[in-house]
Amino acid sequence: MKTVKDLSPLRALISDARAQSKSIGFVPTMGALHEGHLSLVRLARKECGFTVVSIFINPLQFAPGEDFDRYPRHEADDAAMLESAGADVLYIPDAKEFYPPDFSTAIEVGGVSEGQEGAARSGHFRGVATVVAKLFLRVQPDAAFLGRKDLQQVAVIRRMTRDLDFPIRIEVGPIVREPDGLALSSRNSYLSVDERRTASALSRALFAARSRAAAGTVESRELERETRELLERAGLAVDYAEVVDPETMRRMDRAAAGTALAAAVRVGKIRLIDNVLIPEER
Ligand code: AMP
Repeated sequence: MKTVKDLSPLRALISDARAQSKSIGFVPTMGALHEGHLSLVRLARKECGFTVVSIFINPLQFAPGEDFDRYPRHEADDAAMLESAGADVLYIPDAKEFYPPDFSTAIEVGGVSEGQEGAARSGHFRGVATVVAKLFLRVQPDAAFLGRKDLQQVAVIRRMTRDLDFPIRIEVGPIVREPDGLALSSRNSYLSVDERRTASALSRALFAARSRAAAGTVESRELERETRELLERAGLAVDYAEVVDPETMRRMDRAAAGTALAAAVRVGKIRLIDNVLIPEER
């Protein structure tokens, strides 16, 4: 695996791969890698001849007062993990080069980015769309691999890709979880032992809701109320628990097959998100 910080060696490596008729798979990340990220690298490797992973803690997507300064940074461990997962290139752009001081362009994806995370984190999806658009133009992959853990992020990037005609296939990998169900996240390292224990109630409540919906379509209002109660009883503060159409992120009245139940909770000062897809009725 080659690690590059500059754009010209990145472009040279990618054009070499293209000259060998290899398709390019791309996995954008913010580092502090875990099995969730690595599962996307493996998916990319399965589908593409050449896999590029980026690590860039994008300042634009952190709302004021969020954890940009203390976001975990584990570059050496990350590189070792990517090497053994079989990535071909690790791209770590330099923030000053990536965003020169007079950088003044932003990509705003309307509608789909406005509820849920967008409502709670001002400017977040503008930052996400802008960085991903720039990375897409730098890497020019055939396919980009994203995790369903960030359900709304997938919807925003899909919409941007379609609206702006990026010739890139968006592929989505399943949520990788701890044995007790907690979705892996670089931010889980912020949890104290007690908070970590409490946090497992999030996936438990979502799984319970999914089972209930699978047994017969239910009113979203009812499912959301039950989920909220389970979460609150476990000591989690609920930001939202909403049945949505995963493509538009619009709230749906009925938790039918193909919808998703997405939730954000706070345990202490830490905010966690998770979601489940509502399956066909059994
Ligand atoms: P991040 O480094 O948090 O920006 O995440 C980079 C990519 O990894 C995004 O597409 C995330 O959705 C994905 N990801 C993060 N956590 C998980 C997880 N537990 N399972 C699957 N994908 C994940």
